[in-house]
Amino acid sequence: MNLEKDYELLANTIFPDIDKDIEYYEKLYPERNLKEGEKVTRFAPSPTGFLHIGSFMQALIDYMYAKNNNGIFYLRNEDTDKQREVNNAFNIVFNSLKYYNILPDEYEINDVTVGNYGPYTQSKREKIYHTFIKHLIKIGRAYPCFCTKDDLQNMREMQEKEKIRPGYYEKYAKCRNISPKEAIERIKNGEEYTIRFKSMGDYEKKFEFNDLAKGTVMLPENDQDAIIMKSTNPLPTYHFAHVVDDHLMRTTHVVRGEEWLSSVPLHLELFKAFNFKAPKYIHTPLILKKDGDIVRKISKRKDPEASMDYYIEKGYPVEAIVESVMTIINSNYEEWHTANPDKKFYDFTYSPKKMSSSGAFFDLEKLNNISKNIISHMTKEELYEKAIKWSEKYDNKLFEIINSNKEYFKNIINIEREIKKPRKDIANYSEILNNIWYMYDELFENINYNFEGYTKEQVKEILENYINIYDDKDEQDIWFNKIKDLTDKLGYCSNMKEYKENKEQYKGSVADVSNIIRIAITSKNMSPNLYDIMKLLGKERVIKRLENCIKGI
Ligand code: GLU
Repeated sequence: MNLEKDYELLANTIFPDIDKDIEYYEKLYPERNLKEGEKVTRFAPSPTGFLHIGSFMQALIDYMYAKNNNGIFYLRNEDTDKQREVNNAFNIVFNSLKYYNILPDEYEINDVTVGNYGPYTQSKREKIYHTFIKHLIKIGRAYPCFCTKDDLQNMREMQEKEKIRPGYYEKYAKCRNISPKEAIERIKNGEEYTIRFKSMGDYEKKFEFNDLAKGTVMLPENDQDAIIMKSTNPLPTYHFAHVVDDHLMRTTHVVRGEEWLSSVPLHLELFKAFNFKAPKYIHTPLILKKDGDIVRKISKRKDPEASMDYYIEKGYPVEAIVESVMTIINSNYEEWHTANPDKKFYDFTYSPKKMSSSGAFFDLEKLNNISKNIISHMTKEELYEKAIKWSEKYDNKLFEIINSNKEYFKNIINIEREIKKPRKDIANYSEILNNIWYMYDELFENINYNFEGYTKEQVKEILENYINIYDDKDEQDIWFNKIKDLTDKLGYCSNMKEYKENKEQYKGSVADVSNIIRIAITSKNMSPNLYDIMKLLGKERVIKRLENCIKGI
């Protein structure tokens, strides 16, 4: 029978310049030398914008899963759709991975390749894909389709109208039975065509698919003759490209978003058509957020926190973000990390089964708490280093302030730092200035003091008396005893228990007196230890602030 010959002729007509066969690439990219349990994972973003938090979660899993077992984590640039590509997007993703310390073992960036399984950029793999498509045509498993956009549109409308399952399959796969000879003719006549995979599946048959995260899922066999190469693009579609790449790069585990789950039957059929072993799949859930009373998908458009740049720009510590995302990957992570505070996140044994399959809830509030805790436990040197590095790029004002007197800045952020329970009021570096601005005289001008609940006379009386007893040499306990004495002298109560029992007999309590002094000095009614703040400001500035306040109210 000459059909085989005809297929070969067709393959040569479509790809006359392809002279290698798939065996050539099999040899070029041999099986990796993996030991039992070692995994090869990959992160394969399309360069269409920023790094989405859902993709970041996948990259974190890839990294951890590989590191858990001494495996390989590589990065692949899936840039087949040049129309959707955003300038510099891949570099942005790469830099994000770098920022978050999850650099791949193999990658390609700015024409530098690290690893033996490249090119790792799909647009440089055209010849490889063509070789593999040519192979499918030769064995009769791919064919040119001459349906125009209008033909397909009409068919879709007809299927919709007649309530027929949509798609290009069975009798609706109009071009699958065009003979190779006719196809060659039409190609030679200059007709446009796409290339479709010829499916052998039966949609009525279901098979068991074991997703490592979702467990066993029943899926129908694929019967769609999917487009693997469009007429307008020499690069194949994602479905085809990932099959070839994951095979040749010897991927063992594919971690990707659950939107791909419904394409699994097609992907498995493609692997089978080549006689390749398919990798194992982990489909990750959508990232959800609370929006008022509703829980919804985190969206690129509406939520700035969907982008991993957001956290870099705000200045969250890397550990805080990793920790927050890790807790949505595996809910037992937090407990493990508390028990193993010195271990790295990738020492945690990741279990795909423990991942929520219905959606992963990301809570900014929780991130803020984790972050505040981490920042409160940094040494002043650590926080200083991070703050200066971050502010140089993202916050001129803070950068200037820090540089105006580095030691002074360090002393400010050191207040309460070494006590057992430090204040947890900074969630990211962009909040630093808002927390310490009042320590800088140039920012402490034209203050609108808020002495709500007190009369002017009360405030004045307390501040004037306080100026008289204030001595910057006093130790903290002496200082506080003096405040207590002043409290009693002015008709307030220094004993809180007594005050609570007989409130009506006093003008207020020691808390009111301290509060008024605090507001005068910092403009805030909450601050770190006031005694330390005054020590840092020094006598002259403290008195000036008290006097200015008396004048200003
Ligand atoms: N390039 C695909 C995407 O960005 C990757 C899917 C996959 O990881 O296989 O959605």
